[in-house]
Amino acid sequence: MNTQDYIDLEAKYGAKNYKPLNVVLERGQGIWVWDVEGRRYLDFLSAYSAVNQGHAHPKILKALTDQAAKLPLTSRAFRNDQYPLMAKELCELTGYEKMLPMNSGAEAVETALKAARKWGYKVKGVPEGQAEIIVCDGNFAGRTISIISFSPEAQYKDGFGPFTPGFKMIPFGDADALAATITPNTVAFIVEPIQGEGGVIVPPEGYLKRVREICTANNVLLITDEVQSGLGRTGKLFAQHYDGVRADIVTIGKALSGGFYPVSAMLADKVVMDVFNPGDHGSTFGGNPLAASVARAALKVLVEENLIENAAVQGEYLMGRLRRIESPHIKEVRGRGLLIGVELHESAGGARRFCEALKEEGLLCKETHDNVIRFAPPLTITKDDIDWAFERIEKVLMAD
Ligand SMILES: *Cc1c(COP(=O)(O)O)cnc(C)c1O
Repeated sequence: MNTQDYIDLEAKYGAKNYKPLNVVLERGQGIWVWDVEGRRYLDFLSAYSAVNQGHAHPKILKALTDQAAKLPLTSRAFRNDQYPLMAKELCELTGYEKMLPMNSGAEAVETALKAARKWGYKVKGVPEGQAEIIVCDGNFAGRTISIISFSPEAQYKDGFGPFTPGFKMIPFGDADALAATITPNTVAFIVEPIQGEGGVIVPPEGYLKRVREICTANNVLLITDEVQSGLGRTGKLFAQHYDGVRADIVTIGKALSGGFYPVSAMLADKVVMDVFNPGDHGSTFGGNPLAASVARAALKVLVEENLIENAAVQGEYLMGRLRRIESPHIKEVRGRGLLIGVELHESAGGARRFCEALKEEGLLCKETHDNVIRFAPPLTITKDDIDWAFERIEKVLMAD
């Protein structure tokens, strides 16, 4: 079967809820992937930052295969010998007292919303059914019905109502708007330290710090959604660390498994996490031994291979080079670490055609919104590989 055969099969039998680039991948190693025609590409998307550790990392692969051969799933009806170690290691790495394991990023966010509401009723004393959660314009947090209920994207909501009430939206990057929107019934403010799907939007300097102060002053939980920006992607363990901020709740996912398996988690201290009692919340696969073993290995690789520091160093290098391209198409280059967005002028005719041209040059990336190209290679990338990629990026962005 060739590329077109797979594309045709997918079109015939698969729901058409995605519009991928027309490249059919069959193998990956480190920063490289190969398609069914044997062509090699540098992966500059990393599965939306799930593959921070690089494709098929041998240490994570070993954890996966060893654990798969031993015991993949117990459910939480019984205990297993991997989940407690994952919980300990994750809490020690991130500095939170407790964690709650789920599978997808959306589930971690749902968990955070549930925790915040329950904390609001049981600890803060908000009247039953009145809890409010403040969200930002431009947010992306997944695709469940409650999450799309506060999505700013009309398409994400179209045809999916009725929606979950209890959310109020304010502009991203505007701390005054947060202060003005909080009421006695506000239980939480959820924010991405850098908006990924929103177009790699970096908020103004000091924004999160002010947000932290406002939340603390009003007894409102700060939830940072670090599903994409976390685990080293931006050159710090969490992007909020750039502002010296510690949220009350952090959601993580994506790179928590190095791309091998869906693993996500919510992090918090006891005062929040202990609102959950047996039966309040859960998931058949959350905290399963295979996931826990994979997550332990993925975190270990992140730390042992200094991937967070490498993201900072290589990110600065790449961003510096991108900023020096004198292309008529480029409006702005922004981001942190290896989460970089190149926004194009309206006149450029959309980011998609540049992504397709880059694919022809052997570099895979994806537009986010119509006019932003996101560059997010695995954090294992070297300077030489960035030079290789840059040559191609420059060529494509300099063309008409
Ligand atoms: C990807 C993403 C999610 C959702 O993760 P899924 O695993 O796709 O459910 C949530 N929040 C942010 C910031 C994300 O980038």
